[in-house]
Amino acid sequence: MGSTGSIGTQTLDIISEYNKRFRAYLLTANRSVDLLINQAKKYLPRKVIIADESLYDTLRSELEGYPIEVAAGSKAIAEAVADSEIDIVVTAMVGYSGLEPTISAIKAGKTIALANKETLVVAGELITSLLAQYDAKIIPVDSEHSAIFQCLEGEKTEHAEKIILTASGGPFRTRSLADLEHVTVRDALRHPNWDMGAKVTIDSASMMNKGFEMIEAHWLFGCPAKQIEVVVHPQSIVHSMVAFSDGSIKAQLGVPDMHLPIRYALGYPERLSTEQPPLSLSQYSTLTFEAPDLQKFPLLSYAFDAIEKGGNVPCVLNAANEIAVAAFLCDSIRFTDMPKIAAETMQKIDFIARPTYDDYVATNLEARAYAESLLTKYRK
Ligand code: MG
Repeated sequence: MGSTGSIGTQTLDIISEYNKRFRAYLLTANRSVDLLINQAKKYLPRKVIIADESLYDTLRSELEGYPIEVAAGSKAIAEAVADSEIDIVVTAMVGYSGLEPTISAIKAGKTIALANKETLVVAGELITSLLAQYDAKIIPVDSEHSAIFQCLEGEKTEHAEKIILTASGGPFRTRSLADLEHVTVRDALRHPNWDMGAKVTIDSASMMNKGFEMIEAHWLFGCPAKQIEVVVHPQSIVHSMVAFSDGSIKAQLGVPDMHLPIRYALGYPERLSTEQPPLSLSQYSTLTFEAPDLQKFPLLSYAFDAIEKGGNVPCVLNAANEIAVAAFLCDSIRFTDMPKIAAETMQKIDFIARPTYDDYVATNLEARAYAESLLTKYRK
């Protein structure tokens, strides 16, 4: 799901690399119809679906004569992921849109290679209970969570005392708080280490991404906020760590390349051999670690609050952030307005302690509408 995005295209690279082992059965995209058509012709999946229904005719006419079923709309995607021939669903779409099809895949008992962290941010409690109910499992694709998952392999969970999430610190790590008022979209999109989609790159610059990853870790590994520590590690070589009760810390290292965690998730529990050059530590003679600056990056502490409060609060934070990031990407608000919009929206929306799926849907709509209404106030 989301085959035309950054994770989606890299997942197809892995399918090419191991073409005897994996086959693409279903490819879906939001609006990138041209790339989806090219991917369909190259990978010949059984089905392709475009979420934007206005692009259905283009997709269908371009794929006429191919042995590929073509459909459109988010309902069609949610239905198709349940097909019995699918073993693994890679969830790589952007933001809240990942929730519904991921739930549908879980209900069909699929293994989820989870790249869409917003699914767990928005509805972690619901997803966790559905996983148990339908005997489905999640293998994380997010590099930090893949690292933690690997560190926990063969360990007893009660021996893990702390999760240490590493963060690159993004492009603004060394900028002052005053400087952040004036950074541009181009500055924010220039991530020092990772090549990612626009939404997650902005989230990395604001450290919202690390906040979401805290929430994601909380649900994936069942640990409270106080057992998750964020450490800034600008070289992005140590992808995350776990501290154990005997004083040991395990880390997973590698080059900053999303093909690694995708390869691990698709191959799990095996490790697939690759021709790609391994990490050469002599090229990285210095690995450094420092505490994050919460004054510069308040979204990180809002994520901490969101885990503590629980209920629909993470869903509100995610919705407000999606609106703020979209507004920042169109250059209509400042970088430093994004946390203000998140904080005001979190204060405004009514708290629901144990949200149902319908509560999440309503909270998401309400929070987005409120965050939208704040944009006039902050418009540049
Ligand atoms: Mg990550």
